[in-house]
Amino acid sequence: MDTILFLAFTESDGSLAKAALEALGAAASLGAPLSVGLVGASLASASRQVAGCSAARFLSVTGEEFAQSRYSTDAAAAEAIARAAEATVVIAPASVRTNRAVPGVAHRLAGAIDTHVTALAEGPSVTRWYYRQRMEAVLTRTGRPWFILLESGCHAPFAAASGEAVFETVSVTLPPLRTTVTGVRSPQSGEQTIRPDAPLLFVAGAGWTKKQADGQTHPREAEELILGFLHKTQASLGGSKSLVDLSGEGEAVLPFMTHLNQIGQTGATPRHPKGLSTCCHGEEPHVVGWRFITERRAVNLDPNCGWSRGKADVLYVADAFEVMRKLNALL
Ligand SMILES: Cc1cc2nc3c(=O)[nH]c(=O)nc-3n(C[C@H](O)[C@H](O)[C@H](O)COP(=O)(O)OP(=O)(O)OC[C@H]3O[C@@H](n4cnc5c(N)ncnc54)[C@H](O)[C@@H]3O)c2cc1C
Repeated sequence: MDTILFLAFTESDGSLAKAALEALGAAASLGAPLSVGLVGASLASASRQVAGCSAARFLSVTGEEFAQSRYSTDAAAAEAIARAAEATVVIAPASVRTNRAVPGVAHRLAGAIDTHVTALAEGPSVTRWYYRQRMEAVLTRTGRPWFILLESGCHAPFAAASGEAVFETVSVTLPPLRTTVTGVRSPQSGEQTIRPDAPLLFVAGAGWTKKQADGQTHPREAEELILGFLHKTQASLGGSKSLVDLSGEGEAVLPFMTHLNQIGQTGATPRHPKGLSTCCHGEEPHVVGWRFITERRAVNLDPNCGWSRGKADVLYVADAFEVMRKLNALL
């Protein structure tokens, strides 16, 4: 029978992020013997968050060196925990840190790894998508240890408060550190607008930058309306390729949009319960990125736009400037 290790890095405040608790929920649901391994500067509230998961062992690597994401320290810590736990299956949340470090750890342990996993079932088996979310496959593997990185938003977060877990400290021999993390430079030119946990995805299309009924473009008003809506709702911001390409060329249009916001075949496929598209035509290469948006609505001047062809639950044939002005006023 397989034994499972749940592996995660703690946040700067010593807690586990929602995505990590989702991976723990998935690991605990498999019904196999479980260990927990955490890495970070501190485990302050994480030790309470995981206490109720009936793991046989709680292992930790802590210290200032492990506060920052850095391949050498992250991989060394994860390797030490994986060796100490001797688990046959290691389940971790997909994050910047795990996506970068855990494949190397799997190699060091002569194991196998699957990334971008969207579901886990007893066996264990994993589900993931291929060909840009067009085909879904269920896989099992015989190779062990098997590392699995679970995408966020795919399982209910673990939530069973019960005291505080007592951790065994795992010692790590660090290689000479050549990388010093001096800070984070984000490609977003303003504030953070991509919020994977938001209930709503708000998509802006190239129409926001096009000439309107008065024959003029209104990029500043578009910016005010979009950012105003995002501030009020904390929705996540997505864009069409046409719009983010314009911004990328440095044109004076919606400077807060980057290619990271792009939704679609050559962009992201986020998961949100609801989506609202504005000034976007709803062409197939864009809408394929909406695969995991449960309820879809669109605002477009054109009653024959792509959204009207079975791609949205509701299409408002209306001027998005007017709709968003009114919506922001109501909010
Ligand atoms: C290989 C390939 C990959 C691609 N990958 C992607 C991808 O990942 N993501 C992506 O988005 N696209 C992708 N595309 C491009 C895609 O096909 C479309 O060209 C793009 O999505 C169009 O963007 P848009 O709808 O914002 O712009 P447009 O097609 O210019 O549409 C603008 C829309 O705004 C509406 N509008 C204008 N003013 C208003 C207003 N006041 N109120 C309401 N509506 C208004 C117009 O009616 C129009 O429908 C890809 C294309 C190819 C060939």
